[in-house]
Amino acid sequence: MSTGQQQRTLSDAALRLAEERSRPTVLELRKVGCAYEKGRPAIADMSFSVREGEILCLLGPSGCGKTTTLRAIAGFEPVSAGAIYLAGRLVSSPDTLVPTEQRHVGMVFQEYALFPHLRVIENVAFGLQHLPADQRKAQVRTMLDMVGLTELERRYPHELSGGQQQRVALARALVQKPVVLLLDEPFSSLDPDMTGKMREDLRDLLMHTKTTAVLVTHDHEEAFAMADRIAVLNNGCLEQFDTPEAIYHTPATPFVADFVGQADFIPGLVENGTVMTEIGEFPNQVGYQEGTKVVVMIRPDDVHIEPSDHCTARILARQFRGSENLYTIGLPSGHVVHSSESSTSVYPVGTPVELQVIATHTVLFEQDHPRKPKG
Ligand code: ADP
Ligand code: MG
Repeated sequence: MSTGQQQRTLSDAALRLAEERSRPTVLELRKVGCAYEKGRPAIADMSFSVREGEILCLLGPSGCGKTTTLRAIAGFEPVSAGAIYLAGRLVSSPDTLVPTEQRHVGMVFQEYALFPHLRVIENVAFGLQHLPADQRKAQVRTMLDMVGLTELERRYPHELSGGQQQRVALARALVQKPVVLLLDEPFSSLDPDMTGKMREDLRDLLMHTKTTAVLVTHDHEEAFAMADRIAVLNNGCLEQFDTPEAIYHTPATPFVADFVGQADFIPGLVENGTVMTEIGEFPNQVGYQEGTKVVVMIRPDDVHIEPSDHCTARILARQFRGSENLYTIGLPSGHVVHSSESSTSVYPVGTPVELQVIATHTVLFEQDHPRKPKG
């Protein structure tokens, strides 16, 4: 690519970003809390917003409050604190609960919930009873065509595969042109070998129909592949709300760092303005005070190894992953780091290696920061 082309591509990307950022907010949660019965809140102080046409992923481990957040947006759960706005309208607060049918949200849940006694075409047409028959037919046909179900329109749900049932559920939700589409773990009941293709198809469909969507998942790879922005939840609280790249490269907490990929935490000490560790010096980017005990977060893609007889770090294990080799390296202190090498770089266990850390940025946390989910 020539320099001119590169500059054009960069300015195109900047323009696209500016355009995306100027889009109106469709959904906003402000300090939302939700409690089942009178116990501990299932979610607390939850704030994020979704712009028109954006795909937001709610990501976190089982039980962290993803489904509860989605149910609060849909109006199935009242909120005990804060407020939810849909298309600028207050729909939930401790004193407000606009009913689900007035919120114009679309929903695709784990089990699809299709009507078993209705054919595909009738399932999709179900929410359009208010339209004249010819308009209804035209819209349903367009939608079936878009999701590739035209040939199956006379079938009943039990005559379809899991993937096809999911497309019916999607078509049924999308045909109503929802303000926002809510998807709860939409790939969890599909065969794992189908999910890659289904993710791509779903993303294309959402982009094509300019649908704003909130998608729940516990799988960071799915969130990375699907999302424009990700909200990472832990124990009912929002830990970080940002782009997939920022969530991966500059995690806001040790929990996020750990949850979205392999992360090692190497202890360090702030001395003479830099962070001294067993594997070298790092810049004190956050500006911690002299003497602060910190940990440096390292990803395997930041660490390169070279066999070297004079070194004290050693290969403890190698995991062949097809496109890469993931090495576990033992340091003299007993700490370990991981290194991602090309799939053809094969060294035996026990080899002494020199470490080269080539992180483009340093992620630091204080040593006593909780690393695992609380509770
Ligand atoms: P996730 O979807 O992230 O797995 P949920 O939102 O389903 O998590 O659950 C969040 C918390 O709320 C969990 O501690 C769960 O046990 C609790 N919870 C979920 N549904 C109910 C319910 N109907 N009654 C009481 N507690 C619930
Ligand atoms: Mg759930």
